[in-house]
Amino acid sequence: MIQDILNRQALTQEEIIYLLQTKGEERTLLFKKSAELKQRYIGNKVYFRGLIEFSNICRKDCLYCGIRRSNKHINRYDLTDEDILKAAEFAYKENYGSLVLQSGELMNNAFTDRVEYLLKSIKKLSNNQLGITISLGEQSEETYQKWFDAGAHRYLLRIESSNPELYYKIHPNNATHKFDTRIDSLKTLKKVGYQTGTGVMVGLPFQTFEDLAGDLLFMQELDIDMCGMGPYIEHHETPLYQYKDQLLPLKERFDLTLKMIAVLRILMPDINIAAATALQAIDPIGREKALKIGANILMPNITPGMYRDSYALYENKPCTDEDASDCKNCLEARIKLSDNEIGYNEWGDSPHFRIRNLN
Ligand code: SAM
Ligand code: SF4
Repeated sequence: MIQDILNRQALTQEEIIYLLQTKGEERTLLFKKSAELKQRYIGNKVYFRGLIEFSNICRKDCLYCGIRRSNKHINRYDLTDEDILKAAEFAYKENYGSLVLQSGELMNNAFTDRVEYLLKSIKKLSNNQLGITISLGEQSEETYQKWFDAGAHRYLLRIESSNPELYYKIHPNNATHKFDTRIDSLKTLKKVGYQTGTGVMVGLPFQTFEDLAGDLLFMQELDIDMCGMGPYIEHHETPLYQYKDQLLPLKERFDLTLKMIAVLRILMPDINIAAATALQAIDPIGREKALKIGANILMPNITPGMYRDSYALYENKPCTDEDASDCKNCLEARIKLSDNEIGYNEWGDSPHFRIRNLN
């Protein structure tokens, strides 16, 4: 049974659920298959995206997120343009190839113009060499276009859950948190021309295997170019914390995330898949484990150290007390151990995007 499933790229929801529930030898076969496909379609290079979490100010109130607007118990910060550009310069000098600009979601002209300025400045300081991914939430088509024209070429916007019912259990049901807006935003990003990435949290309260299988089929149907999926980790200052006793143990959430990555690699062998930071919050070599079985993108945190604690989306966020260069050195050694090599100075674009655009 399992061999037949593993040799196909078109899987039913039932077959995906079967794979997500594998144990023992069958689990090993799943990971072997996803590792083989990664090697065949992507190779063993891991691409870096230096992650700059430049502000934790957010207009939204997602029920799982530690930096949601209603959490009054965190220090809000907003890096200066100078600090952001310094971090970008660090990524450039360290030959990272790309960076990610991420923050809470703001939607106003001043924010749009500021990001546009930052994008242009990063392109300039790196002689157009740094690739730029942004992850700045839902915006108008005009804003997406403005940022694309300013130099961003990849965009990450997780759907969080592709099942509207679950979506509304983890978000307030109001005008700023509309499921349909999220879907429309993903479509708009593709239309504007971004390499478009989405993803979900794994192990959310109320989430079923049917939901997770549906998420993977959703990504295949939307024909995404990139994915970032990580375990859900509870934060005590959020409304979803009340369901903490109903969650899978952290280790199981971790294992299920690895299986989600492996199955996605089978469904979409040539996309970029990130080894999410939240994996490392559960297992110190969690990201390297993901790289071994199918992921190919890593986002070392290069946010200046003193702000890292304040970008606490969940508890036990790793590396908040280290500076950016410490992170790079420890990562380098661990990536070598996971039989991968770092694609320094390369953008490491999604092969799927290139092929999608040839057709
Ligand atoms: N504000 C933007 C957005 O929501 O798209 C970008 C930043 S947001 C902090 C990035 C991602 O963090 C979200 O898409 C969400 O999946 C993840 N996240 C938030 N809270 C989390 C939690 N408690 N556990 C794991 N991931 C979480
Ligand atoms: Fe804001 Fe993003 Fe957190 Fe939602 S997930 S509260 S949009 S930072």
